[in-house]
Amino acid sequence: MSIRIIQLLLVLLAFTGDLYFGQAQFINIVDENGKQIIRTDAVLERGTTYLPVEVLSLVFDANLTQKYIPLTKKLTLTLGKKQIHFRINATSIQIEPGGESTVLSHPPLLIKRKPFLPIEFFTQLVPQIYIFDVSYNTTLRRMQVIEKISGSTKNEADQFTAIIDFGHGGKDTGCHQNGILEKDLVLRLAERIQMEASDRTIKILLTRDSDTTLYAKDRIRFSNRRTEAKLFISVHCNMSFSPKKKGLEVYVNNSKSDLLKIGLEPNEIGNANDQPSLFKPLTQDQFLDSSRQLATVLKHQFEDVFGQKVSVFELPLNMIRNIYMPAVLVEIGYFSNPLDLKKLKENQFLSQAAVALLQAIERYHEIFITQNNLSSIGEEVQ
Ligand SMILES: [Zn+2]
Repeated sequence: MSIRIIQLLLVLLAFTGDLYFGQAQFINIVDENGKQIIRTDAVLERGTTYLPVEVLSLVFDANLTQKYIPLTKKLTLTLGKKQIHFRINATSIQIEPGGESTVLSHPPLLIKRKPFLPIEFFTQLVPQIYIFDVSYNTTLRRMQVIEKISGSTKNEADQFTAIIDFGHGGKDTGCHQNGILEKDLVLRLAERIQMEASDRTIKILLTRDSDTTLYAKDRIRFSNRRTEAKLFISVHCNMSFSPKKKGLEVYVNNSKSDLLKIGLEPNEIGNANDQPSLFKPLTQDQFLDSSRQLATVLKHQFEDVFGQKVSVFELPLNMIRNIYMPAVLVEIGYFSNPLDLKKLKENQFLSQAAVALLQAIERYHEIFITQNNLSSIGEEVQ
């Protein structure tokens, strides 16, 4: 009996320790064009706005790590090459390396057991660490993030822009066969794309053009911040236990599809429900129709160029489900099939694949223009 009372008291204590009567609200985080990056929970407390630490990794740095020790109330964030040491309820912070210390006018708080940082941390300190300018409009509850080296000119913004993502890179080799690595092979295709794209009207952005390690989050952040981009294509090579499996394939993300295990590498398939529940961003689901359209265009283009049947599959795709534009994943051939592998190594095949990809993007652009004109005529959506 008394144990239950003590338990009850402990629970009450734990709650009051976290209890802030701050006003819960949402704020929108937008890019330089006012387009929403995310909508996040915020709390109005002690006369200022507080945001959860997760905002840092979702908006600024996918590689951010945080460590919180409840006993000492110490919070350490590793962002960029810096470590920032906070203590919950204390205004002074320490930045390593260098041992520099700064004082915030509002201390970090623990709200519902999650560390929250005052808005001034985002508007004043983040710009000193990253290449972003950050401003906050209290009335609109809107935080705007502008990349300091925004080199895009008006002319470029008018071009139809597509993102081509080349899988793996750096430490992540992808699949391999006979000493050939997927990360290198797709990079050779990237070089062809760059050569072929230069004298076309469309603009191509690459997530990588060198052998660098990129995590899925980096690719997603890169892509969603390029608000001028109208579509996303991730390029990979496939691998199967069956040497008979061959040819090009196109994949569309469909979180509701139960078509699992078709042959993709495990890291390209994801669990559709591991989104942090605090945030309610857009989902790839709303682009399902246009992604299917993009997949169909690619399928026909590949079939024309290579004279072989190209299949389109739908399944939950880790890489793509957080890309907020029409998006597909293309497997340009099987490393496990000797004929495919031989072809994949040839410059001629890679050039043909590059041209087919670019032509498909141009073809999709035509459809896109037609559709946009149609939808602006019947403007009454939502
Ligand atoms: Zn891959």
